[in-house]
Amino acid sequence: MLNIIIFGPPGAGKGTQSELLIEKYNLKHISTGDLFRWHTRNGTELGKRVKEIMNSGNLVSDDITIAMLKEEVEKNPDVNGFLFDGFPRTVAQAEALDKLMESMNTSVHGVIELKVSEEEVRKRIAKRKSIENRADDEEEKLNQRISEYFGKTVHVLPYYRDQNRLKTVNGIGSIEGIFEEISQVADGFEVAKP
Ligand code: AMP
Repeated sequence: MLNIIIFGPPGAGKGTQSELLIEKYNLKHISTGDLFRWHTRNGTELGKRVKEIMNSGNLVSDDITIAMLKEEVEKNPDVNGFLFDGFPRTVAQAEALDKLMESMNTSVHGVIELKVSEEEVRKRIAKRKSIENRADDEEEKLNQRISEYFGKTVHVLPYYRDQNRLKTVNGIGSIEGIFEEISQVADGFEVAKP
């Protein structure tokens, strides 16, 4: 298996790069944000529990998030690997993911940080907003998500950096150029696999 985590703030191009990665390396894409949105859209019990917190742009509790992630991973026992997107966002989630991978006799092989500064992200979003009217781009909520990323989520990165599992890719440039760099990093993870 090849298991990768992609990290990056809202507006960094993480969605586009994730699509390219899952296709090239034949990975199962698990985005906790997408899963939560599916649950809220479909009005499941879980969806009802997280709706309000999601609307505020804050993080759902570790317990709920980890349980949902675990279920999704276990639903896909025969995949070539996973691309985790939007997870982990706390050290507790990172530790839970390591345990889960270990229980499957595999591991998180590497973490790709798509690096774009807070200033650049805010500029990009302002530009995008002037062109299209995305429902999730309501100013306040998006601001909260950006603050959440730079204020909290980035604190997970040292967990991986300290274990030499983190690679940073500059998120400014063309889609193709950035993907080439990401591919080199992913190839490195593949080669270094035990
Ligand atoms: P995203 O699309 O990844 O930004 O996720 C949308 C929303 O889902 C976030 O603002 C959180 O409320 C929730 N969420 C997604 N992933 C996580 C996570 N790993 N931990 C806690 N909350 C999450």
